[in-house]
Amino acid sequence: MKRQKKQTVDTGTQPLATRAKSTLKRELQPPARLRLRVTAAAETQLRAGHPWVYGDSVREQNRDGAVGELAVIYDRKDAFLAVGLFDPDSPIRVRILHAGKPQAIDGAWWAARLTQSVGRRGGLFDDRTNGYRLINGESDGWPGLVLDRYDQTLALKLYTAAWLPRLEEISHLIRAQLKPERLVLRLSRNIQALARKTISAEDGQILYGNRLEACPTFLETGLRFEADVCHGQKTGFFLDQRENRRAVESLANGRTVLNAFSFSGGFSLYAARGGAVSVTDLDISEHALASAERNFALNRSHARIARCPHERVQADAFEWLTGNGQRAFDLIVLDPPSFAKREVERSGAIRAYERLAALAIQHLARDGILVACSCSAHVTAEEFFAAVRQAAGKSARPFQEIQTTHHAPDHPVKFKEAEYLKAIYLRF
Ligand code: SAH
Repeated sequence: MKRQKKQTVDTGTQPLATRAKSTLKRELQPPARLRLRVTAAAETQLRAGHPWVYGDSVREQNRDGAVGELAVIYDRKDAFLAVGLFDPDSPIRVRILHAGKPQAIDGAWWAARLTQSVGRRGGLFDDRTNGYRLINGESDGWPGLVLDRYDQTLALKLYTAAWLPRLEEISHLIRAQLKPERLVLRLSRNIQALARKTISAEDGQILYGNRLEACPTFLETGLRFEADVCHGQKTGFFLDQRENRRAVESLANGRTVLNAFSFSGGFSLYAARGGAVSVTDLDISEHALASAERNFALNRSHARIARCPHERVQADAFEWLTGNGQRAFDLIVLDPPSFAKREVERSGAIRAYERLAALAIQHLARDGILVACSCSAHVTAEEFFAAVRQAAGKSARPFQEIQTTHHAPDHPVKFKEAEYLKAIYLRF
């Protein structure tokens, strides 16, 4: 990996630079700061704090830019508007790091930003929870970058190639400031080939610390879970669902529970600790069910968990719910993967949520509770809630709405496109 040179942002008082006059001059001098001007609509969005500039909003650019370099955006009067990470190959051309008054983006700036993100989590957790999100992308000022803590192991996930040239700098900073035992790199699928080619980095690579013999474990509200940090979905665990899991714990006493799309059994362990009569994990993946079994084993010291029967069903949830009409549960959790990865899939996803909720309601006993979750960013909370309420209405059973929930405090969301998680709780 090449170490990125420290870069600073100029003050923004100069007019847009013209292209260097001769090749010789270009070779002798560092390239001029990459400067952009954007459409009036994009200027307004930037002033309102939106963290993205799309390629088709760029009106002027002083030269070609390289992936990950700093781009400074000036307004119509040539005053500094914002600075961000440039990506010539992405429709999101600039991911904003800072907007407002000009600031030097140097080592001290990055260090302060990390301190800020960590500080934002201060007081959220006691020592019974050592797995949580430390950096939540754009909403923490780190566009396309996530940092999760699993006890002494940190997982750094990059969703955009714009971070690749800075990986070494950022991983040094994380190591110096947070002093983890281990730092694991995760790369979203779309940037894996480029990372291999340009900086010889691999998804699942341990950037710092000892090799892992097994998945590390961590605590969430006193429950122990394993996290497949090197290969699992996201960074190995769905940390975003902690608050819903806690709510399920408080509702589970004396109930038979179906955890559909159970993954590694997160909701089931909370339900068991909350006094569930039995829990059934339903997932299409054998791997996920095996992880849930290990997680139950890790928590045998909790008497309620040790005595709670734990059934595991490997099946497609839609098929299983369609074909097992006689099974009834007192509490059903639905937490499927995203049904809409793209905008065009939105209306199909809304129909699928309604169908899934309708199927689950057929399996709910009298006084049963449905907890339906959605993690599709393309389906809004209101659209999702409406779909579930619609299914409930069509069931012709009386129901009450207990609550709706959104993002957890360690997963802050500061702009519309980042909102994805929502859940609705209904009692029949
Ligand atoms: N509720 C979990 C996260 C669920 S992730 C938690 O709190 O940790 C979604 C899960 O759905 C994955 O484990 C995936 O294997 C499973 N899945 C995907 N499609 C499925 C299907 N058609 N039927 C059942 N499970 C499915």
